[in-house]
Amino acid sequence: MLTPTQLEQLNKLIDSKIYGFIAKNISIDQLTPEQIKVLKSIGVQVDKILPKDLLTYQSFALGMISGAIPKSTLNATNYEAFKKYIGSTKMIPLNSYEKGVIRSLERQSLSDVAGIGNKYKKTIGEALNTSERQYFEDTLRRNIQEGRAKKESLRIISNNIAKELDSFGRDFDRVVQTISHNAFTEGREAFYVKNYGNDAKYWVDVFQGACTWCVKSYLTGGIGSEPKVFKVGELPPPNANYGKKKADWVVTKPSSHPYCRCTINPLPEGYVWNQDTQQFEPPKDFKRKVERKSKVKIEFGDKRYEI
Ligand SMILES: [Zn+2]
Repeated sequence: MLTPTQLEQLNKLIDSKIYGFIAKNISIDQLTPEQIKVLKSIGVQVDKILPKDLLTYQSFALGMISGAIPKSTLNATNYEAFKKYIGSTKMIPLNSYEKGVIRSLERQSLSDVAGIGNKYKKTIGEALNTSERQYFEDTLRRNIQEGRAKKESLRIISNNIAKELDSFGRDFDRVVQTISHNAFTEGREAFYVKNYGNDAKYWVDVFQGACTWCVKSYLTGGIGSEPKVFKVGELPPPNANYGKKKADWVVTKPSSHPYCRCTINPLPEGYVWNQDTQQFEPPKDFKRKVERKSKVKIEFGDKRYEI
């Protein structure tokens, strides 16, 4: 059997993994002094982690500049250059609204990660209960030597735990994907607000083969139909559905489920859907009504963009 001390050690191991993940990906500000102490005690150099290295901030920044810079330029940019850019003074400065969005993203992400920790603690607890039951049944039924039965049940326990810890890593991968796509979406939406104002609208590019939930949420009549149009700030963040039964789900911003790749896109004022080209386009007699007052200027690499 695992002793209570060993169980406690396993739980501590899970905790420190979770704290480490939060510190390196979300924000140190979301950890308590006690949790930071735990990280320091296992050699994590907490003070050396900079905001620009965090997953939430990076994905948000990528979302913002993806609204400003042509896709071709962005695709040709490597990760190191991108990191250098967002850490430099050339990065679009974030206003208090955008900083608030990042804080709220951090809190959302925190509940994703805490969910993993609780799941594994519960599973390990259950693995123990199952093995304990097995141990007693074995002892009774076969009436074999106690020593052998003990050995057998220990093997079951350690196999179960090893199997669970294996999927621990996969769960982290899923959370990384979710956090980065959520933050990317928020970055894009924040950019629309910055550039087009509070009445800006967007539509969601739903991938071919996307799940029925995304098709229903973002399109008016199935794959290939006209996308629904949303106003900035209209859709709640993805965690609006956490812990709810599917029947009670509401339409949220992407990612609306794990591994969702649906991407929000701005809808220029006056553009209409063309079913033939499957795009939003200006109508034939299109004339932009009012010239926008402010424009976002952005310097990326050796180029300057004004949108
Ligand atoms: Zn989707």
